[in-house]
Amino acid sequence: MRGDNQNEQIPEFVDLLRLAKAKRTFVGKLALAKMTRLGHYLANNDGIIDVVLEFGQDIEGFYYIKGELKGALTLICQRCMQPMELQIEHAFNLSPVWTDVQAKTLPERFEPVMLTKDERFSLVEMLEDELILQLPVLPKHDEQDCSIKLSGLNEQFESTTEKPNPFAVLAALKNK
Ligand SMILES: [Zn+2]
Repeated sequence: MRGDNQNEQIPEFVDLLRLAKAKRTFVGKLALAKMTRLGHYLANNDGIIDVVLEFGQDIEGFYYIKGELKGALTLICQRCMQPMELQIEHAFNLSPVWTDVQAKTLPERFEPVMLTKDERFSLVEMLEDELILQLPVLPKHDEQDCSIKLSGLNEQFESTTEKPNPFAVLAALKNK
């Protein structure tokens, strides 16, 4: 079988049905820099995402695209506005459809992916959509990792120093 090369480039434009009929698999990497819509949410787009894709047709005749995405995205924490890492580990199971009716009647195990007759299908955009769907509405560090503490007491110190001196905090409390 083709597609066992661990460093295979994920092709940008594909014929989904042809890949499904040929039962192609891809194991490869996708550069974040290729995904400009996703890039709007990122602090930087230096990284790569590991991608596993399997195309086929199940026993009921449905074409499918199974995939796994793994990697890290650097977002901006909406509390302290500093970079934060989001680990992505996402599996999906898509099936191509051409109409809304087909999309609505698709078995529950699938998410629809809409095809049009005359457009080239962008595999990269499909994966980009999957990644965008993984983004939290309001990305925030875990409380202990955030440079702004919820109590708010340390805020003014932490904006200038990494570790506030506990005596300085005490002094500030006394001066209030
Ligand atoms: Zn934060």
